[in-house]
Amino acid sequence: MSAWEKNIRKVVPYVPGEQPNIPGMIKLNTNENPYPPAPGVAMALQDIKTDRLKLYPDPTAKLLTDTLAAYYKVGKDQVFVGVGSDDVLGMAFLTFFNSDRPILFPDITYSFYDVWAELFSIPYERPKLDHNFRIRKEDYYKKNGGVVIANPNAPTSIYEELDVVRDIIEHNQDCVVIIDEAYVDFGGISAACLIKEYDNLLVVQTFSKSRSMAGMRIGYAFGSEKLIRALNDVKYSYNSYTMNQTSIHLGVEALKDRAYFEECTSMITKTRSRVMWELKELGFSFPDSKTNFIFATHEFIPAEELYTALREEKIFVRYFKKPRIDNYLRITVGTDKEMDALIKVLKEYIHKRK
Ligand SMILES: *Cc1c(COP(=O)(O)O)cnc(C)c1O
Repeated sequence: MSAWEKNIRKVVPYVPGEQPNIPGMIKLNTNENPYPPAPGVAMALQDIKTDRLKLYPDPTAKLLTDTLAAYYKVGKDQVFVGVGSDDVLGMAFLTFFNSDRPILFPDITYSFYDVWAELFSIPYERPKLDHNFRIRKEDYYKKNGGVVIANPNAPTSIYEELDVVRDIIEHNQDCVVIIDEAYVDFGGISAACLIKEYDNLLVVQTFSKSRSMAGMRIGYAFGSEKLIRALNDVKYSYNSYTMNQTSIHLGVEALKDRAYFEECTSMITKTRSRVMWELKELGFSFPDSKTNFIFATHEFIPAEELYTALREEKIFVRYFKKPRIDNYLRITVGTDKEMDALIKVLKEYIHKRK
């Protein structure tokens, strides 16, 4: 190994779900929304003045942060935006987790948290979820360098009630608590209402799932003025122009159409209930989902086998070969037609295997 190679930062990167592009495929592996963004977004896209693109975007993304503040009824200085919530979360890890004590997040959760912790050399511990994949709130009572909770959690789909979240924050007044709410619009209640009470709470959300805009990369966070200022200081020390002009503009458009947003999320939750019922009939079990995916295990067919069988039929779901969850499939809720195709393939396969 040459001298310079010894100085390379060694990291094991996060592995996102694959993005295959096969004609006729059904893609249920990365929790994208099957419906298009609000109609206003398509119209605004056509109106984009390409001449504007020669200029740098507004580094504060003021138009978008102000619109988010008005939409969610928080102060203009209580909003931070980034390139997807991954950017917001990464920035938050870098900004808030500088203690010698380990930060805490569950053993089964979004698999980017340990990647950021490793990248930024943040010590961490992963308290085990219980046998039903529920948080044991007492695990978060000990001294620590910070807490990160995805609520609803991924890939389990489980939502913990707000009083559990409040209890964890209440017991962690000496560190920053991050609540990652990527899926909260599918049936949970946001902890954003708690930022007035707790100035150490950061609530992170995204346009990627409930607003059908994963490709635009828009994430945001709510927190006290102090937290948001600290995040911005770090952001401006790294890259002033994280949000591009088009994302800022289209993000604002998406927020204008509350009715469309509510219609889309309610279609997904309706499809989810129906599919849960049908999966149960086929011998699957799963926790109650408050997300746009179902975390399912079958009574006698191993998950990996089903994952492969579905792939053969060009149906992509997510499978994690990891301790405790390697017999589960994470299935994104798509359109009714997509889910019918999934159920049909599963039914035939299970029938053959009996
Ligand atoms: C999808 C997801 C994110 C990241 O979403 P972005 O596309 O970066 O906004 C963050 N946390 C969880 C738990 C997710 O599932």
